[in-house]
Amino acid sequence: MKSTPASGRAVPRFAGIKTFFRLPTMAADGDWEVGLFGVPYDGAVSYRPGARFAPTQIREASSLGRGFSPERAQSWIERIAVADLGDCSINPMSQELTYAAIEKFWDEIYGRKRRGLAVGGDHSTTLASLRAARKAAGEPIGLVHFDAHLDTYPAAWGAEHHHGAFLRHALEEELIDPASTVQFGIRGPLAGADDMDVVKKFGVQTTTVDDVRDRTLDKFAAGVRLDKELPHYISFDIDCLDPAYAPGTGTPVPGGLSTYEAMRILRAVDIPNLMGADIVEVSPPYDHADITALAAVSIINEMLHIFAAQAG
Ligand code: MN
Ligand code: MN
Repeated sequence: MKSTPASGRAVPRFAGIKTFFRLPTMAADGDWEVGLFGVPYDGAVSYRPGARFAPTQIREASSLGRGFSPERAQSWIERIAVADLGDCSINPMSQELTYAAIEKFWDEIYGRKRRGLAVGGDHSTTLASLRAARKAAGEPIGLVHFDAHLDTYPAAWGAEHHHGAFLRHALEEELIDPASTVQFGIRGPLAGADDMDVVKKFGVQTTTVDDVRDRTLDKFAAGVRLDKELPHYISFDIDCLDPAYAPGTGTPVPGGLSTYEAMRILRAVDIPNLMGADIVEVSPPYDHADITALAAVSIINEMLHIFAAQAG
């Protein structure tokens, strides 16, 4: 018997204790294949805070979540056992202890040969997730990175580990294979042309919103090169979306992807061997009418479909 969400017909969607997609909560050693967990940490943001509240708000908004995709003709609920593993025990006073706790949480998942999806949290937390993924994979992994920003920035105010630097660290620590790393949603303005130096130096495939809009999505997706032999990780910064679709975020940038385009990219691009994923930078205090939280739920849903399609 698969772990299944509470039925909306048996228990109204506005009732009950909130978990991701109304799924059962389980411990690490429970009977699940893909674990959803919260990472309520926003100690490394450079502008607006609030992402620490995202796991709670996304659980609430995911009450409307459903499992069948007519586009994929697939139900993730039927194909994989998904559970809510609760929140990672971060330390709001310590980056170091927080990243160690995140890595340990993933170690528990990968140690059981299972897969996970972290609901952040600010984007600095992805570095800890990638460290765990690299360790479990035994080789640098591929990365699919949605973002308005390059996230290869230098230290800020003397601090190396802020939310705009995770990708630079992941490249420098050789956690990821740049040849199988792609960025979606990147756009300006940048501070200068040299902002692109790091992705150019490593040979990351950086795509802009123009690249998505200037051709059909199928043609765009076909141009993405990912190594079929490597495990991959998806990191989805909600600010890849236009602020019209995701106002509740720390550093919004106009001119972004629509929620629909991001969902279509996740359907159209063949992402091999997905071992883990995260969604970050949702800041509920800046959200309106749950627009951003609901977008996050739709993106998580697409990711669960990728896990489901690759199950067994
Ligand atoms: Mn960003
Ligand atoms: Mn980011």
